Amino acid sequence: MTAVGTGRLTIDRPLPAIVGGQARPVPAVLPAVEPATGRTWAQVADCDGAVVAEAVTAAATAFETWRSTSLAERQAALWAIADRLTATAADWPALLATENGRAIREAALIDVPTAAEIFRYFAGMARAVHGETIQGAPESSHVYTTREPLGVIAAIVPWNSPLISVAHKLAPALAAGNTVVVKPSELASVSTVRFVEAIADLLPPGVVNVVTGYGATAGDALVTDPRIAKISFTGGTESARTILGRAGARLTPALMELGGKGSLVVGPDADLDTLTEDVLTGVFAANGEVCFAASRLLAHADVHDELLERITARADRIRVGDPLDPATQLGPLISVAHRDRVSEAVDRAVAEGATVCAGHRVPELDGELGGGAFYRPTVLADPDGRTSASCDEFFGPVLTVERWTDEDDAVARANAVAYGLAGGVWTTDLARAHRIARRLQTGMVWVNTWFATPLGQPQGGVKASGFGREGAAETVREYQASKVVNVSLDTARPPMWD
Ligand code: NAD
Repeated sequence: MTAVGTGRLTIDRPLPAIVGGQARPVPAVLPAVEPATGRTWAQVADCDGAVVAEAVTAAATAFETWRSTSLAERQAALWAIADRLTATAADWPALLATENGRAIREAALIDVPTAAEIFRYFAGMARAVHGETIQGAPESSHVYTTREPLGVIAAIVPWNSPLISVAHKLAPALAAGNTVVVKPSELASVSTVRFVEAIADLLPPGVVNVVTGYGATAGDALVTDPRIAKISFTGGTESARTILGRAGARLTPALMELGGKGSLVVGPDADLDTLTEDVLTGVFAANGEVCFAASRLLAHADVHDELLERITARADRIRVGDPLDPATQLGPLISVAHRDRVSEAVDRAVAEGATVCAGHRVPELDGELGGGAFYRPTVLADPDGRTSASCDEFFGPVLTVERWTDEDDAVARANAVAYGLAGGVWTTDLARAHRIARRLQTGMVWVNTWFATPLGQPQGGVKASGFGREGAAETVREYQASKVVNVSLDTARPPMWD
């Protein structure tokens, strides 16, 4: 039984869009619903196409000067944003916990410092990516490339880690000399508006704009605006298909960070103590609402039973409750509708033959929390990987445990999914580790760990998990085009027209 924590946030004024450095009030609003209680705790602007067009105009105007700011200025701005986040670090965890149910201790430990670190990393990268001289060109010419910013970036982000996702979009795009219109998720917009308000004095007006609203309206108006130079999208695979269809008609390029089904292949010789810790973090951190969650464990038969027992026991002990309570380890899912979708997906897997070992129930919580979107951490046994639990993304705190005896079979099963975001191998056998790492069809592979994402390590996927990479030097290039300049150094020409 958990009492409602004190200090629940309520924001009285409707939050505006932010256009050209100014609050842009919008008469139509949509509610921000707190997942822990179901109450409306704020209201955000429900932007229509006209407001979105204004934001793109502001960004396009700002681009004309921001594109030629010195790298020193861009670095200073990005570093100042990181400093602002660090200086106000105490303000964000309760906001994030209220907004999407992230446990407050995790928001303080992970979300805020990671977002600041992303801005610091790209402050450095602003200078590190540059053009090159093309050697081997004829002596009679001098050929070089420059890296040009693209223009106005449409940054569309999901609800699961809003502060980190926004940082992953803004920092590299700004470092590269672009301006941005951000469209946060209709389920978690407040932190993005507050963040852009908090850094408004650190950037020229119009360099970063925010439009809130639904994907089908504000989002669609943004991705179909012909002035958008690139769409940078993080979200679900189905939305990506719609957006790419719209982008295709206009030939707008896109970076796509999509869903995943992370398989962790466990060898017979794995160190189960550390593995158990990492699996719990891998699948239950951020309430399991993580694109590269370790949602599927493929365990060798020698360790399968013990591992399943250990993880089940630990999952049963996880403290689910008020995300504003520092003792809480797992908060509510983003909404009751999403919780019910996760629960129904588990029902389906069970009907197909999976066994529930832990969870798959709504915890009994008191008072206001009784209306929250809570769901116990769930462990499913699906030894042969025959049910939908082995391939569908739950995007919730659900782990599927499978058994294998043949390494080829384990790898084939890990690869037999539409997604290709993150994978892992856990073994003390060096050859096995590298062998499996090489064969996993994913953009990221962890060996004897999960979730380690130091900046500089590219994040992104293959297959239905998307394309493009975030968090690394190459990300700056995602927001630039190469321009080549070929300078003739003589007047001699071949006798083509004599
Ligand atoms: P979603 O696709 O429903 O929404 C993401 C964003 O896209 C929201 O801002 C939404 O309003 C907008 N959107 C939706 N339809 C649109 C349209 N037609 N035009 C323009 N914008 C539109 O995703 P979600 O439910 O918010 O997030 C969960 C999904 O995101 C999961 O599948 C998860 O795996 C994925 N995700 C991926 C990563 C990654 O880095 N690969 C990170 C986090 C989340």
